[in-house]
Amino acid sequence: MSQINHKEALNRLKEGNDRFVQGVKSINSLMTHKQREELADRGQRPYAIVLGCADSRAPAETVFDAGLGDLFVVRLAGNIISPMGLGSIEFAAANFGTPLCVVLGHTKCGAVAATVEAVSKKKRAPSDHIQDIVLEIEPSVKLAMAAGSKDDRSIVEEAAKLNVIRNMERILERSKILSELAEKEQFKVVGGIYNLNTGYVDFIRE
Ligand SMILES: [Zn+2]
Repeated sequence: MSQINHKEALNRLKEGNDRFVQGVKSINSLMTHKQREELADRGQRPYAIVLGCADSRAPAETVFDAGLGDLFVVRLAGNIISPMGLGSIEFAAANFGTPLCVVLGHTKCGAVAATVEAVSKKKRAPSDHIQDIVLEIEPSVKLAMAAGSKDDRSIVEEAAKLNVIRNMERILERSKILSELAEKEQFKVVGGIYNLNTGYVDFIRE
């Protein structure tokens, strides 16, 4: 099966998200058990990569009504980039020709909220590991505060969006493999904010 292009991949994600919002499932996602053996034998060819948050309420496969073998998913709290996460994205793009990467943030993100609290109260996170996550998100929180977002809730939502954009940019800045593929139009990075209440994903810079 040949790989689809990034526009077709984005359309598939949008159609899947529409189904999820409406509470219907595609035949493809229902048939995943039958596809299991075929995928195991022939290998995977995921059509999109998702860099998402680890939040239990934001699972990419569910939100996009995707089946086995559809999505290559990297998840860390705050949908941040780590060297290993970037390597994973490069691996999928280079080996499977996956043409699209979505950096998927979400509303009411606990990692962003924790960072807002750490910045406004000038407090360190309770562990060095959590502090590492806070430091990754901090520039976006400070930007949201400087842009005039008033209460903590609106700062969290604005910072989540800025954090998605920051990581979208950094994927291409930091990865030679991915920026070269993007120049050839064989790879694209888009952003999205998943709304926990409505189920909709608002895409950014699509
Ligand atoms: Zn989150």
